Amino acid sequence: MARFPDHFIQQVAAATDIVDLISQYVALKKRGREFLGLCPFHEDNRPSLNVSATKQIFKCFACGAGGGVFQFIEKYEKLPFPEAVKMLAQRANIPLPRALQEASTPAGLSKADLIGLMTFAAKFYRQRLGSPAGTAALSYVRQRGLSDESLERFGIGYAPDSWDALSQAASKQGHSEAQLLAAGLVARSEQRSGCYDRFRNRLIFPILNPAGEIVAFGGRALDPADRAKYLNSPDSILFDKSALLYALNWSREAIVAGGRAVVVEGYFDALMPLQAGVGNVVATMGTSLTDRHVRLLSRYAREVVLVFDSDLAGARAAERALELFLLQQIHVRVATIPEGKDPCDFCLAKGGEAFRSLVEAAPDALQYIWGRRLESCRQAGDDLAARRRAMEDFLRLVASSSAYGVIDSMRRGQLAQHIGHMLNISPGDLEAHMRRLIRQVPPRPTPGMANQGVPQGDPQRQVIEVLLNRPDLFDSVSASISPEDFADADMRQLAEHVWQLARSGRLRIDELLARQDLSVHAALLAELSEGGERRGNYEDTLAGAIEHLLGRRRKLELQDMKSSGLNDDALRRLDESLRQADPRRHPRIT
Ligand SMILES: [Zn+2]
Repeated sequence: MARFPDHFIQQVAAATDIVDLISQYVALKKRGREFLGLCPFHEDNRPSLNVSATKQIFKCFACGAGGGVFQFIEKYEKLPFPEAVKMLAQRANIPLPRALQEASTPAGLSKADLIGLMTFAAKFYRQRLGSPAGTAALSYVRQRGLSDESLERFGIGYAPDSWDALSQAASKQGHSEAQLLAAGLVARSEQRSGCYDRFRNRLIFPILNPAGEIVAFGGRALDPADRAKYLNSPDSILFDKSALLYALNWSREAIVAGGRAVVVEGYFDALMPLQAGVGNVVATMGTSLTDRHVRLLSRYAREVVLVFDSDLAGARAAERALELFLLQQIHVRVATIPEGKDPCDFCLAKGGEAFRSLVEAAPDALQYIWGRRLESCRQAGDDLAARRRAMEDFLRLVASSSAYGVIDSMRRGQLAQHIGHMLNISPGDLEAHMRRLIRQVPPRPTPGMANQGVPQGDPQRQVIEVLLNRPDLFDSVSASISPEDFADADMRQLAEHVWQLARSGRLRIDELLARQDLSVHAALLAELSEGGERRGNYEDTLAGAIEHLLGRRRKLELQDMKSSGLNDDALRRLDESLRQADPRRHPRIT
């Protein structure tokens, strides 16, 4: 996605009033100079969402969500920053910069053109399913249990057994071969010149993105002799299968409402529960779950239930998935369909209610993996080394879960007791071992969370807090310190933007929130602005913070001098002379 120029984003921000905007989603009541409402980002039962008309920011005092107009849309509509800008530009009737109206692709190959072609192809396949050529396909899909209503809802179609039926129809509609290729609907032939239809004699599942646009197709072979049972569209500018989940467009609402997503592995496995009224199911499409899938789900769900056909596949996938989810702080549970059935058959035989109960009763992933480990210990019998290996692995998993706050110390204690028993280790020794492992767990690399490293009352925070509320004090700040004096990488990035805006006389919170690079820090910025205002006492806070930062700088300079080989005596004299030259810039080091 191309970047919008800063002045354009600023223009959109200026044309959008935050109280007006948020009122479209949340009922706001005026309270003093602010507006209050129920926060849509957590289960709020007393109004925690504060909207400031003067600052043009929102801030939830319960869950910490916060930012400006773009970040509200990013969070509420689950859109990336540029899409949020686009949406608000449309709302304000501001035309997009001409260079950005279409992605920079050759003529006819823009995203919009290709989606038009995909929509055409879906209609083509859909019609073929109802034609005489589609009779066998139709009876197959009915026999699998999909109702006619579902076929319509999910747009199920049929690709005829022909090398060029789709290409012919598409070219009659004016679609070029280059478009068909770019959309992955045809492939180039190696033997003959020209292209052939990618999907032939297959049942077709349209794949939609969360915005409801058709971006790819999945095809199930109808001829048992076909080598590939399932075939997907190749990755294209529309489609990246490691970042998209099938059926999310239909299940997003239910996932958000319940905070839970159920992940299955195939098209039918997702559609049958949806047909049976279980609305929160998505499927991976022939790949195992990737960290991008997990990030996508983490926008909508707090908990994910993985459903697998068999224990064997389940165990392997669960362990891989658990580590991915741990990093995103999503709770994971693992359900196994009994008697070797798949979720589709199970749903059909037992109904949606039974599927829902199976999901409800699923053990959490640690418990599930523990069960599997116990099983392998039992199989290892007297082989103590094998038992030890199995338990050591599990211990490491418990340590990461604990370090990332997924399980509490009580749960950890319980698990440790079990493991100690399995390994014949005393609880005390095991607890010590566990603490060692926890210290080895690397910090969670979540964007935006890193700021928690800079605590309240930190001088770096204080400087920004004051400047956001009193930009007129900037000159006295910039005379003493610069962004390089901010040691924390995130705070330094904020400081750089603050300095830049202040120099051009535009230091305002809404200007900062309109910068794409800072969008990940939006909640922090809102908090700094509000917190600074609450604490007030600007001049004193600033003086203390600057003195602190200068002291730190001085220590670093001395360290540099030391490593440059000056002896202690020379250093003391140098320190003294620097201090006398400018005592404000160089407070005495203690
Ligand atoms: Zn909230």
